[in-house]
Amino acid sequence: MALPVMKNYINGEWVESESKVFGDVWNPARGEKIAQVAYGTKGDVDRAVKAARAAFWEWRATPPLSRARYLFRLKDAFENNFEDIAKTLTREQGKVIDESRGEVRRMIENVEHATGVTTLMCGYTLEDIAKDIDCKGHRQPVGVFAAIAPYNFPAMVPWWFLPYAIVSGNTYVLKPSEQVPMTQTKIFEILDSVGFPEGVVNMVHGSKEVVNAILDHPDIAGVSFVGSSPTAKYIYERCGATGKRVQALGGAKNIVAVMPDAKLDAAMPSLITSYYGCSGQRCLSGSILTPVGDVADALLEKFTEAAKSIQMGDGLDEKTSMGPVVSAAHKQRVLGYIEKGIAEGAKLILDGRNAKITDLPNGFFVGPTIFDQVRPDMTIAREEIFGPVVSVVRCKNMNEVVELINSRGFANAACIYTSSGAAAREFKYRVKPSMIGVNIGIAAPMSFFPFGGAGQSMYGDTKGHGQEIFNFFTDTKVVIERWL
Ligand code: NAD
Repeated sequence: MALPVMKNYINGEWVESESKVFGDVWNPARGEKIAQVAYGTKGDVDRAVKAARAAFWEWRATPPLSRARYLFRLKDAFENNFEDIAKTLTREQGKVIDESRGEVRRMIENVEHATGVTTLMCGYTLEDIAKDIDCKGHRQPVGVFAAIAPYNFPAMVPWWFLPYAIVSGNTYVLKPSEQVPMTQTKIFEILDSVGFPEGVVNMVHGSKEVVNAILDHPDIAGVSFVGSSPTAKYIYERCGATGKRVQALGGAKNIVAVMPDAKLDAAMPSLITSYYGCSGQRCLSGSILTPVGDVADALLEKFTEAAKSIQMGDGLDEKTSMGPVVSAAHKQRVLGYIEKGIAEGAKLILDGRNAKITDLPNGFFVGPTIFDQVRPDMTIAREEIFGPVVSVVRCKNMNEVVELINSRGFANAACIYTSSGAAAREFKYRVKPSMIGVNIGIAAPMSFFPFGGAGQSMYGDTKGHGQEIFNFFTDTKVVIERWL
């Protein structure tokens, strides 16, 4: 049977790409091809940008509250199709269905937050800045914006940006990850039913050629990117060279410290999901586990037991607690890191290399893996693995923890488990990452707070969602007036 081919959405219509190059989309739990996606071209991008340009002036002159009303309708449409989006997501990405539901919920929360445009986009004024002179700062939309998305949150990540951009009066072009194009296709089918004016929101599928066409297009004013750090740096530099606004969120190597006074039993469920949720493929996943002082043995005993009880399988099965990694290639990459850990002398205390799931022999599964006695200079303590592999680096005290965290190039998130307010305060005060959890393993800011890291985890200054994002999508035009 022929596989479905994902189409582009341009000027309010579903259109085929002009490309003759196609990529496969997989169900990673089954190791089966389920769809195809065209790797779009510069011409596809140009058509989408033309449509977005043509829609801009009328859309930017639409009152903000009227623009927000499209989002109210969109929220309802998303709620009515909630389960359908979550299932599509699990099918192509592999994460368990409850995580997909959580992701769709987070996506919708961004739509909800963006509807506050009438207060969030307000400018400011001051009378009498000099004799008889008043000053006003109007926030104006800028033009066409674009987003380039990663594979690990196919529904949510583009919506960290898109609703804020359009509700501010800009128009939009989205490029989803070519590994998971079905989820946004489903989402855009729902969006299509809401009746946005033609050209306000567009989507072009594809890979590097589409990305480069976006980065170089003279009519795109700004780019929001989320993905790995090398790509984030590349996007940031190329947008700089072509004079675009840019926010580029990169990879991570998150450290979770467990202090001797932590409540281990209470911590265990959130610790386990921090490392193994989404099979370790979250930018907020724990990667290094750092027991401090004499808590190490008790912690590792409980953590290893809990890791062993993880039920792997197809994410669509409600009983599954961990799904596969996204692709055969990514599985090989994760296995390569496990081999490196062994070769560099770390002690493998739980080995996920030979995970076998009955009935799913072709799935891309890697089991929960734990290395003890990891040194900070080892590859598995420095590079982003993005799989269910935990590197335990034991520390003697808070100073060692802070030094370890601040010596990684990545600085996305860090967490501490403790019963001491003083320890928690010292931790959040001194560490470099910008998303901090205290007795919370996945410190994920909600839509009304900014999402993003520091160091090599973030190129640019304005993060995803939160209130600041309205700065990224607007220009403050200052008018200084005197009426004689
Ligand atoms: P990726 O960098 O491989 O791909 C991201 C996007 O960039 C995709 O749309 C892809 O088509 C495009 N791309 C990839 N290589 C490119 C190149 N050389 N030139 C031009 N475009 C290119 O990332 P991924 O594997 O899809 O996603 C996983 C990564 O994303 C991890 O590093 C993870 O930590 C990171 N991530 C970060 C955050 C955050 O908030 N900081 C959130 C989610 C994911």
